[in-house]
Amino acid sequence: MPIHKLPSQLINQIAAGEVVSRPASVVKELLENALDAGARKMHVDVHNGGLRLLRVSDDGSGIVAEELSLALERHATSKVTSLRDLESVTTLGFRGEALPSIASVSRLTLTSRTADSDRAWRVASREPEGFHPPVPAAAPTGTTVEVADLFYNTPARRKFMRSERTEFQHIERVVRQIALGRFEIGFTLTHNQRETLRLAPAPSERDQVDRLGKLLGDAFVAEVLHLSHEAAGLKLMGWIGLPNYSRSQPDQQHFFVNGRWVRDKLISHAVRHAYRDVMYRDRQPAYVLHLQIDPEQVDVNVHPAKHEVRFRQSQLVHGFVAKSVERALAQVRPGETGLTQPERPSTMDNPTPPGRDFTAEVSSGFVQQPISWRVNEKPSPRYLNSISDYAEPLRARTEPAKPTGDRVADELSPPLGYAVAQLHGVYILAENTQGLIIVDMHAAHERITYEALKSAMAEAGIPSQPLLMPIQVHVSTEEADAAEGHSDEFSRLGLEVHRSGPETLTVRRVPVPLEGSDVDGLVRDVLSDLIQFGTSGRFEAAIDEILANMACHGSVRANRRLTLAEMNALLRDMERTERSGQCNHGRPTWVQLQLDELDHLFLRGR
Ligand code: ADP
Ligand code: MG
Repeated sequence: MPIHKLPSQLINQIAAGEVVSRPASVVKELLENALDAGARKMHVDVHNGGLRLLRVSDDGSGIVAEELSLALERHATSKVTSLRDLESVTTLGFRGEALPSIASVSRLTLTSRTADSDRAWRVASREPEGFHPPVPAAAPTGTTVEVADLFYNTPARRKFMRSERTEFQHIERVVRQIALGRFEIGFTLTHNQRETLRLAPAPSERDQVDRLGKLLGDAFVAEVLHLSHEAAGLKLMGWIGLPNYSRSQPDQQHFFVNGRWVRDKLISHAVRHAYRDVMYRDRQPAYVLHLQIDPEQVDVNVHPAKHEVRFRQSQLVHGFVAKSVERALAQVRPGETGLTQPERPSTMDNPTPPGRDFTAEVSSGFVQQPISWRVNEKPSPRYLNSISDYAEPLRARTEPAKPTGDRVADELSPPLGYAVAQLHGVYILAENTQGLIIVDMHAAHERITYEALKSAMAEAGIPSQPLLMPIQVHVSTEEADAAEGHSDEFSRLGLEVHRSGPETLTVRRVPVPLEGSDVDGLVRDVLSDLIQFGTSGRFEAAIDEILANMACHGSVRANRRLTLAEMNALLRDMERTERSGQCNHGRPTWVQLQLDELDHLFLRGR
């Protein structure tokens, strides 16, 4: 076959192969266009899984009659004009491909009206190519795109379609995803004329939490922290699930970069890294997070479907996201208010209140309810004396002032209250202002010891020692280059790694806690992280794991009798310790039973 130019219809169909894989991807493109047009309300109507008919209408800016046919032409866009624009894209679209691609594999009708026009105009795609001139139509301000008989002319693609139900589920997922990214916008979704989703605009935090509940379930809302953090020109805000609320799948991980939903390895790695200490390794955290970043710092033109991005300073972004999430988790000390309480300023519109870097708030679920939790001190000095102190049994300290009266009313009484008894050698029962606290003493002590070991290590630096037998690690040239480039980082972690050949590394010195572990495998994994993400937390994670093990063995075992003073000392340590709400394996260390819950058990009206 001689080389020849392809007809434009075929070019569009080829492009459609990348952008329009199923009805849901049509919905995504059309909703993104509506968002770019400044719409506040959008309706998605689906018939037969979107294969027969899909309609997306919005109340956005609309398109003027003269440009209507142009909108359906390839590489026609109102969003960028120069390379300069492309380098700082603030719209979701910019390729000018979606409408022509969709039109080339369906029967598409575009109806639109601008605010200053007295009527709407309509164009329709027709075979084999080209478009009718616009005809007048009746419609309100905004745009409606109707896509009928998707893939009618590309039978190969049509064959890949699943059942109508499945295709609709994909559509639903797309709408939900977009709705999590834009709380200020209202959405409706119907299937075969039945409404399946209605979301009112959610300006206040309370509305936002309602929407979160609708989209991710009440269980998520009941165990979620709100976070908002800003540094180095980056801003991260949103909600992260408490470690107790973990999932087997990464199905509730929503990350938005400047309003764009993205699936990004760097980001999911950063978030997982932040959870490493409080969640089982095979569990997945849930989160809805929005990153705001200077558009020039992120390249959105790396994938036709635009759900991937590339950060110009990936290490900075990785570190910022990991640190923000980690700090929020570390401060799981219930705040003054729960997520479900009304009348708080909007989280999406208002920046963090001054003077409070973080807002870590726990909702009023049954477990670990909001009680005001004050200080964020260092662990008590006795843990910092030396690492070998870890096994030291709890030592009695000053006896707290005994609570007086029927109920603890003292404002100054500590959040976890005062111990009243030990139950079956496993639990500590304590009385606080709100009712009864139950503490799993081993789990709690384990976390305290672990955090103390970590801070001792952080303060003293990681001790390292030379190996009697240096370890040879065989790697690729790229990995060896990476090892050379990051040698400072290795030595900071107590590792001495030399390049001893084009594809060989020699490890001569390792951090003490890692002696005897699989250094070879660890170095290789770290290098692959460094190449992929520019950073790796694996050594820290491996060291943490060993410290966690030490903590586990050094912590009070079940069936050990504690005196009230010892129990109180443990409660006070918990209040001072970061992440003390979870044991090292992500299970809760304490729960609160409210007085009214107790009253309820006894049918006691108050
Ligand atoms: P892109 O979004 O990359 O610019 P599209 O093919 O999706 O390319 O859309 C082409 C143009 O049509 C857009 O640049 C925009 O000007 C216009 N357009 C598409 N959908 C809408 C809409 N819902 N409201 C207003 N204008 C729209
Ligand atoms: Mg578009």
